[in-house]
Amino acid sequence: MRIPCPYCGSRDIGEFVYRGDASPVRPAADGAEAAMFAYVYLRDNPMGRHEEHWYHTQGCRNWLVVTRDTLTHEIPSARLAAPLNAGDAV
Ligand SMILES: [Zn+2]
Repeated sequence: MRIPCPYCGSRDIGEFVYRGDASPVRPAADGAEAAMFAYVYLRDNPMGRHEEHWYHTQGCRNWLVVTRDTLTHEIPSARLAAPLNAGDAV
């Protein structure tokens, strides 16, 4: 399987580390404890297209949001999790 890193191009999956589901949104700091528990511990096991965090550990060391189909492992897109700042070393 290959991941299309927006910075490095198409690279082997062995260069990346999977870091989990990219869809949960962190609740407000003063939010309910149950919401924080769900954010930290509860995950779905989706079938089909899913957004995931991957870290390009043996490449540019950027965090990516990768859209992957969990049935076919097709990766139709990948983007940087956060935009680069001017002057950032890569
Ligand atoms: Zn990269």
